[in-house]
Amino acid sequence: MTTSVNDETLREEVRQWLSENWTPEIAEELRNEAPTHYTASPAQQRWLTKVVDARWAAPRWPEEWFGRALSNDQAKIIEREFARVKAPGTGQDRINLWANTLLAQGQPGLKEKLIEGLLKSSVNMCLLYSEPGAGSDLAGIRTRADKQGDEYIVNGQKVWTSGATTADYGMLIARTDWDVPKHDGISFFFCPMKQEGVEVRPLRQITDESHFNEVFLTNAVVPAENMLGKPGAGWKVLNTALAYERSVMGEAARGSRHGSTGGAEAQPLIALARDAGRLDDPHLRQQLAQTISYRRLNSLNTARAKADLAQGTSSSIMSLGKLAMSRILHEEARLRTEILGAESLLEGQEYPAAEDANFLSLNAYFTSIGGGTDQIQRNIIGERVLGLPKEPEVDKTIAFKDVKTGVGST
Ligand SMILES: Cc1cc2nc3c(=O)[nH]c(=O)nc-3n(C[C@H](O)[C@H](O)[C@H](O)COP(=O)(O)OP(=O)(O)OC[C@H]3O[C@@H](n4cnc5c(N)ncnc54)[C@H](O)[C@@H]3O)c2cc1C
Repeated sequence: MTTSVNDETLREEVRQWLSENWTPEIAEELRNEAPTHYTASPAQQRWLTKVVDARWAAPRWPEEWFGRALSNDQAKIIEREFARVKAPGTGQDRINLWANTLLAQGQPGLKEKLIEGLLKSSVNMCLLYSEPGAGSDLAGIRTRADKQGDEYIVNGQKVWTSGATTADYGMLIARTDWDVPKHDGISFFFCPMKQEGVEVRPLRQITDESHFNEVFLTNAVVPAENMLGKPGAGWKVLNTALAYERSVMGEAARGSRHGSTGGAEAQPLIALARDAGRLDDPHLRQQLAQTISYRRLNSLNTARAKADLAQGTSSSIMSLGKLAMSRILHEEARLRTEILGAESLLEGQEYPAAEDANFLSLNAYFTSIGGGTDQIQRNIIGERVLGLPKEPEVDKTIAFKDVKTGVGST
């Protein structure tokens, strides 16, 4: 059910609120803060608290969960007003992976405990999905969760876990039943990270950063009420969560490391070409126009997919957006290098444009691997969007404990 409010009244209300609360000082404070990848700064948290308390953060959500039960069209009025003054924090009912997954599938006690903190970014999260022997084939996970009374005891290893060092909880998939086929024995949890049974070891990336980690789970304790969905129904919860993740990756991407040339958007590329005195080059102009068009088309496609998405469901169209964004990022990085020519070979802080070109070339792989590789997105699109025959899966119907592999054991 949606709340009845006139569009004009709503627009006036949000404008009024923004004019009273979104002050130049707050905007300046947020702009000046050093970027953090997985945690919100105190100023960001203060702003988000205001937005959530005023019920602008998730306007499509029910009123009992900080929302206004508004229609998609009316929520967009709010988003447009926030965007007009460049204020962040609304639209979390579309993009907040953690909060949306919890709202759709969580038990009441866990929602009560965490949803507010997730919207206000005072609770930090990570994804405990991939394992050394299970990445693209996530259903092959071997981390186990065994029920003991009101708790699950978790043992296993995760890898490529972004943000694990700062996370309060990890969205964890673990096997709770080894006697059924692989997709049917998986459960989905919010696993507390700050406990003795969780050891996080950082990994070094090709960009010289260290965002992801190995996570070793040794008798880690997860309360039973932290399970999302039913025991053994974790695959369905996972697919919903993955669709949210893909939609976010299909919509946005990280900008430059230094912010010196305005990130990976198409317009900064035009500025770069102008600075390099190459904006008259007809071949380059054509490539710039093509890249800008791809970005625009992709954002329209993602918006269309989201408009069809009810809370707690997933859409394979999200895979199309993520795959397209992956291609766009590689193409933009290539174009950046082409614009700079030999200068792109330079290294060091005196050459920020070259540093950005190199960083963005390497970082483009983030989107083409993380959240499911390009090849996996193509499989999903082939099977679920185009209706092509499914890939053969020889282990799909046999009990997981009988699946022959080279790793681990039950
Ligand atoms: C920047 C980044 C951040 C990440 N963050 C997280 C995180 O926070 N949490 C988390 O759990 N994981 C995370 N990951 C892991 C990511 O989800 C996996 O790397 C990805 O799913 C691929 O798994 P894999 O590395 O095991 O590769 P593999 O599955 O071993 O794949 C190797 C190659 O084989 C191809 N391939 C495999 N199966 C098929 C198939 N059926 N058809 C066609 N080609 C196939 C793949 O496309 C790939 O090219 C992150 C990865 C990156 C790059």
